[in-house]
Amino acid sequence: MNELRDESPLALSRPDLMRGQNFINGTWCDAVKGGWHEVSDPATDTVFSRVPDSTAEDGKAAANAAARAFTSWRNVSARDRSRLLKRWHQLILDNSEDLARLMSREQGKPLAEARGEATFGAAYVEWFAEQAVRSNGDMLVPGMPGRQQMVVREPVGVVAAVTPWNFPLAMIARKIAPALAAGCTVVAKPAEDTPLTALALVALAEEAGFPAGVINIVTASRPGTPDTVGSWLNDPRVRKLTFTGSTPVGKYLARASSDTLKRLSLELGGNAPFIVFEDADIPAAVDGLMRGKFRNSGQTCVSPNRVYVHDAVYAEFVEQLKVAVEALTIGPAEREDSLVGPMINGRAIEKIERHVRDALDQGATLITGGHSVRNEIADGPFYYAPTILGDAKESMTLHCEETFGPLVPLFRFTDEADVINRANDTSYGLAAYFYSQDPARIWRVSGQLEAGVIGINEGVFASEVAPFGGIKESGYGREGSHYGLDDYLQFKYLCQGNL
Ligand code: NAD
Repeated sequence: MNELRDESPLALSRPDLMRGQNFINGTWCDAVKGGWHEVSDPATDTVFSRVPDSTAEDGKAAANAAARAFTSWRNVSARDRSRLLKRWHQLILDNSEDLARLMSREQGKPLAEARGEATFGAAYVEWFAEQAVRSNGDMLVPGMPGRQQMVVREPVGVVAAVTPWNFPLAMIARKIAPALAAGCTVVAKPAEDTPLTALALVALAEEAGFPAGVINIVTASRPGTPDTVGSWLNDPRVRKLTFTGSTPVGKYLARASSDTLKRLSLELGGNAPFIVFEDADIPAAVDGLMRGKFRNSGQTCVSPNRVYVHDAVYAEFVEQLKVAVEALTIGPAEREDSLVGPMINGRAIEKIERHVRDALDQGATLITGGHSVRNEIADGPFYYAPTILGDAKESMTLHCEETFGPLVPLFRFTDEADVINRANDTSYGLAAYFYSQDPARIWRVSGQLEAGVIGINEGVFASEVAPFGGIKESGYGREGSHYGLDDYLQFKYLCQGNL
């Protein structure tokens, strides 16, 4: 391991989980060219660690290792693959406190949420350990006498996994676990802001006993072509790319990998509507919005981005929401009482400020917040006050862009058909939420909202048992559930004649 320059050391019970190297072919190693990328604590904007600044050479070495390992890993029995995944799952749970502390330090999410993410990510590993032994094929009823016709499902091959910074553990776990369960091998690149949690996760996979080359991970400061990920895009041995991140980068990767026609799963950005009908249970709607919106300080892809409230309940909803929002405590992730942590970096703060300024210039009313925060507890440059803006309009930037911060814009409506049109008026289609107690309306509205995931009287819905993913420009492919394994398998039709 390289020497880490940690001025405020993390009290990990397993300091060896803090890795500062790539893992290629079963070996921890520096970048071939020897460069480094610094990792900062968003609570203070100070560097506390570093990881390799990998280049195309490192990406290629990882792909070589994964391609070699695939030839034997695909033949390991599903039962044995499942056993290894179960061991990995247990190690993640056993070390979840360390993983949570590391995650909070590099990403800024409050500790309670980071602990929740460790358990959540582990649940996908366990789920796919169980699914590994159920990737059955089909025996078909023969189309003519003297034939047997059947379908087997085979692993697609080497999988490249590229992940964002907002869920440093869960996003990579729910890509690697189904890939390994299916019999694929993996090359992975975590986001440059949050590489350490991913490296710790891979260190635990090594401990679980996966053979060399089955999981490879490289870190980098420059995300794109011609570096790391770029080296995989045109590599014909990399048969699938699974990406979670922003829509523009997803589109770029889809174009850039088209020469080798890779299988793609793209989990991209969102612009979720959250609708409160006049027959909603208002305290439940406020609670659902608080849980959905302020998780990870609003930095989630499914974060309610546009909140539509019926005129008849607007005043009551605003009153209760304001009380709940003003009760949120802001502070560094490591304080147990922090509910809203720092934003990931200065660009995130600038985006929120731009959205708020633009909305106020266009006539929005400031109900609470609307400013950055710096005080004795929240003593860093990236804190932003949980904010509610009333009288939001479609012409505002916050209507069409993902804010990715603790900002709730409230739009008024009076008519169901109109609000559905307005909710669907976006190129995104990841998540949508609505609150209503009318059973007929629940079926009607669920059928009309254009989103891959719908929360009905519920503000938080991600789960390993359910398929997660978007439609429209929020991407394609599904993670979790039995559908999640299909993305890593291909069908092969076998026809035996002369029987
Ligand atoms: P991002 O698109 O900037 O980066 C995601 C990953 O792609 C990172 O690892 C980054 O290094 C890499 N990357 C960036 N440019 C690249 C390029 N040109 N070539 C190759 N790799 C490149 O996204 P982000 O800022 O890390 O994450 C936030 C975004 O992710 C938001 O839009 C959010 O909605 C989305 N997201 C979606 C989901 C989902 O499940 N749909 C989940 C979490 C986050």
